[in-house]
Amino acid sequence: MAINLTPDLAPALAEELHGKNAAQVLELLASRFAGAIAFSTSFGWEDQALTHLIFSQDLPIRVFTLDTGRMFNETYSTWQQTLDKYKKPIESFFPNTQKVEEHMTTKGSFSFYESVENRQECCAIRKIEPLDRALERMRCWVTGIRAEQSDNRASMRNVEWDAKRGIIKVHPLFDWTLDETTNFIRTNNIPYNPLHDKGFVSIGCAPCTRAVREGESFRSGRWWWEDASKKECGLHGTASLGTPTFGSTSFSTAATEPHSQ
Ligand code: SF4
Repeated sequence: MAINLTPDLAPALAEELHGKNAAQVLELLASRFAGAIAFSTSFGWEDQALTHLIFSQDLPIRVFTLDTGRMFNETYSTWQQTLDKYKKPIESFFPNTQKVEEHMTTKGSFSFYESVENRQECCAIRKIEPLDRALERMRCWVTGIRAEQSDNRASMRNVEWDAKRGIIKVHPLFDWTLDETTNFIRTNNIPYNPLHDKGFVSIGCAPCTRAVREGESFRSGRWWWEDASKKECGLHGTASLGTPTFGSTSFSTAATEPHSQ
């Protein structure tokens, strides 16, 4: 039966998913949004954990990535290792060729360092437009967002209504700590980006990502030259919280088993 997509679906779904672990959340979503659910990966720790859960359970969830054309070689290596390990497809979405050509011709290679507007323009071309295409006809978008990653992300909910796209957005690892995430990666022998071992916590495009130092926040290595309050690329900036009655709901952080009652 087709689900009626409205903002109120977010709190209802959050209630239904409350207390379930990430594997159970994905399983339920795959069934509920059959044929219309997609997971976006950028091959970071969190995304690799989710990819493992989706592929090893053989869940019918599309996995896609946005190849901005400015990614680290290490990210491409992780992508390939993931294909080699799971033998499952990862869809690649490239930016519009003409838009990139125009942008490079008029602005050059590093305009994003000059202003927030220029950076957002580049992200819009290389990330947001391809994301919009990837999510066309989708009804549920799964991401690797964790609350701990930034103050902005901590203010999100584990299930949200993406008002711009009119779809449900779910973060199955929302309550996981970094330690829980890396332990899951190691325990399950999941390939991960070697840049993580060099202080890169959140990994995006090469010219816009640096390693973080002891004590710095997870997102401080992204667009480090900008005001911290503006550090989202626009991919996750349009979700609304829906009815604010489900803030107390949370997923279990147990990777494969629910918390005991
Ligand atoms: S992260 Fe940097 S290089 Fe990548 S799309 Fe945004 S501005 Fe462009």
